[in-house]
Amino acid sequence: MKKYILDLASEQFKTLLKSIVKEEYRINQIIEWIYSKKAISFGEFTNLPKKLRENLDDKFKLRTLKILKKEKSTIDGTTRYTFQAVDKKIFFAVLIPKNDKNSVCVSSQIGCPVKCVFCSSGKVKFVRNLSKGEIIEQLLQIENDTLEKTSRVLFMGMGEPMLNFNNVFSVLSSLLSNKKFGMSKRHITVSTVGIVPAIKKLADSNLGIRLAISLNLIDEKRQKKIIGNNFSFGIRDILNSGKYYIKRTNSRLTIEYLLIKKINDSVTDAHKLTRFLKQCDLINSNVQVNLIPFNHLVNVEFKTPTVASVQKFRNILKLSRIIVNVRQTKGADICAACGQLGY
Ligand code: SF4
Repeated sequence: MKKYILDLASEQFKTLLKSIVKEEYRINQIIEWIYSKKAISFGEFTNLPKKLRENLDDKFKLRTLKILKKEKSTIDGTTRYTFQAVDKKIFFAVLIPKNDKNSVCVSSQIGCPVKCVFCSSGKVKFVRNLSKGEIIEQLLQIENDTLEKTSRVLFMGMGEPMLNFNNVFSVLSSLLSNKKFGMSKRHITVSTVGIVPAIKKLADSNLGIRLAISLNLIDEKRQKKIIGNNFSFGIRDILNSGKYYIKRTNSRLTIEYLLIKKINDSVTDAHKLTRFLKQCDLINSNVQVNLIPFNHLVNVEFKTPTVASVQKFRNILKLSRIIVNVRQTKGADICAACGQLGY
């Protein structure tokens, strides 16, 4: 059976190639065609002998995903891509253009086992993890489509990336590799609801990419109701793992807080969040809080907070010298915004 070339780890790749290519420079040429020139078939590898191209085609699959649909926001140009895998399963990626720079938000799983009640991805039955290749291919296909390089990669699409640790870790290594994507660690963000052991593992791996923790409720009992019980860690434990991450990697930590009307947007909630950050020693220049007003378009159970409550929340945090931003929701009209990547 043909192997999916994007799934292979470097060593495995070299071992499998051994029978058909001996020279190191040929291997480098192959890597260049895959990642830099973003070829979609082995026939395009024109500086390789024809026989070698045929051998590659016999042994490997270069691409496996199909773009089923592409929807572009008329508000801000955000584009939602619907992908289909070989097993016909569906998932999404989102292109967010800003000032001539493109960010791509990739999915790491099909469905999401965490099942946060406000999230459309959480409502999709968890099917499986995406493979390393399937995550990388989202990026390659979007770059083929836009003919532009991606400046930033966000692991904020469908799924909890820290529950697909090994594959996500391999993708991160490819993104940082100069032979492949050569991205800066500051331009890669992994977002998690706070899977504490995985955050520590990522910290110890010392890749140094940016980490974002979605801490949407600051009351543990309510947090358990909002986030699937199996994946809900204590708020202090989550924040302390964030602190450990900063210490180990010297990287900035973002706390994402999705503001939902009458659920977590009160003055009391703002004070509680401030208190937790203070107690965990997380009020400093390495920590930034992003407030994201919930978009109610696809989820009628929850409501968008009022502008006044968002401002009040932000001001309370600011008064305690917390670095805080209110993030504009992108692609709200095409269901590409935070928590909207469902069917
Ligand atoms: S918010 Fe993230 S972790 Fe929660 S259900 Fe949605 S995709 Fe999964």
